[in-house]
Amino acid sequence: TETLHIIGGGMAGSEAAWQAARMGVPVVLHEMRPRTGTFAHRTGLLAEMVCSNSFRSDDHEQNAVGLLHWEMRAADGLIMSTAEAHRLPAGGALAVDRDPFAATVTERLRAHPMISVSEEEITELPSSGHWIIATGPLTSAALGAAIRAETGADQLAFFDAIAPIVYADSVDMSVAWMQSRYDKGESEAERTAYMNCPMTRDEYEAFIDALLAAEKTTFHEGETAGYFDGCLPIEVMAERGRDTLRFGPMKPVGLTNAHRPEVKPYAVVQLRRDNALGTLFNIVGFQTKMKYGAQTDVFRMIPGLQNASFARLGGIHRNTFINSPTLLDDRMRLKSRPHIRFAGQITGVEGYVESAAMGLLAGRMAAAAILGRDLPPPGPETAMGALVHHITGGAEAKTFQPMNVNFGLFPPIDAKGGRKGRKDRYRAYTDRGKAVFREWLGGQG
Ligand code: FAD
Repeated sequence: TETLHIIGGGMAGSEAAWQAARMGVPVVLHEMRPRTGTFAHRTGLLAEMVCSNSFRSDDHEQNAVGLLHWEMRAADGLIMSTAEAHRLPAGGALAVDRDPFAATVTERLRAHPMISVSEEEITELPSSGHWIIATGPLTSAALGAAIRAETGADQLAFFDAIAPIVYADSVDMSVAWMQSRYDKGESEAERTAYMNCPMTRDEYEAFIDALLAAEKTTFHEGETAGYFDGCLPIEVMAERGRDTLRFGPMKPVGLTNAHRPEVKPYAVVQLRRDNALGTLFNIVGFQTKMKYGAQTDVFRMIPGLQNASFARLGGIHRNTFINSPTLLDDRMRLKSRPHIRFAGQITGVEGYVESAAMGLLAGRMAAAAILGRDLPPPGPETAMGALVHHITGGAEAKTFQPMNVNFGLFPPIDAKGGRKGRKDRYRAYTDRGKAVFREWLGGQG
């Protein structure tokens, strides 16, 4: 049997190695630590949690990340079973004792007869064999440059600049309206690509005050602030002058308030459709370093967003990730070099759990290919399938930014009827997801 090579022994690479090995495929896991470090990792252990020690909600009936936990457990996931073994009391969240957790993952992988760990930095794209690149948000500079040379500079980012994303059905459309600037666009899809929220002068001034006063996070040491090139945080724009936003992302030109055409708005906040389903919209140009609690308070001051629910909040971080919607096929293969798969945060998912889940999938797909089989991804009704469909096709390629798992990525259930309460709706999502995931697993024998 041919060997599977995995670059990076973090959340994704560790899970991928485990999955391939349990299918009987030999694995070499190439990990640069402890020889070469990153600014965030502290140890030479595999699957080190670099910041928080939480895998977030473990509620597999009401929560999308909880469903992802459930699916990974059903698929004999190493990260989940080890997390369970080192679980700390944390209410509904799955928090873990980080050092014993990483030590156990490391031991289990090193002890596996099908796996060997090679402590080295890989600096070039491999030209043959079966490979998974799972080098994460802090991919080493040399490998980052090699990937960039292959994909083109505009297809690999070194920072994410995430604008907050809201659930479309939580926007008050008696205040907001759909319109693209200057009514550009021919198709229905283009005409429904933007929502607009109008502001009066007083509302704008109060919003700027709140932005300036809000609590912000700072960059980690060593995380150079090279973001000032094209994606300034909105609060930094506001600091440069009270009118900067009104002449920038909040300019009111080319738009007419459908509810009050006679009143010219002083400023307009635009939201752009973020997925093909039209269930998620991002607030255009609103990348921010405000703390999460401050963000919800400040953004709910925007008329139309007073009751907004957020699928994810904004942020700016050091984060290496590729433009997966353009570069990867639905088997997570690099289209230009199909012997290379990508997994983990570098594919544009966000978070420990999502990264490990993409490792699970890539590991199984690569092992299946080595064994002469084709493994399609699970359906988009599952959490794992929803994520992989989003990054490899559902997301808008032009504005692609890293994504957490959330129900907005799933094919909607009863979205318009409104009859079912939120609890019943979430339960319907998770019940449906589990059934589809069981079938997918069953199909693999
Ligand atoms: P990683 O876990 O980072 O693993 C990648 C591995 O590849 C590393 O071990 C690295 O040493 C290795 N590597 C890199 N380049 C090479 C190379 N050329 N050759 C060989 N090995 C290489 N997520 C959360 O869910 N919660 C948080 O609180 C959180 N905080 C974060 C804070 C910071 C500062 C950063 C940078 C990220 C944070 N994340 C957080 C995101 C988190 O890093 C990912 O969710 C998760 O670790 C990604 O898993 P991964 O396997 O893709 O990457």
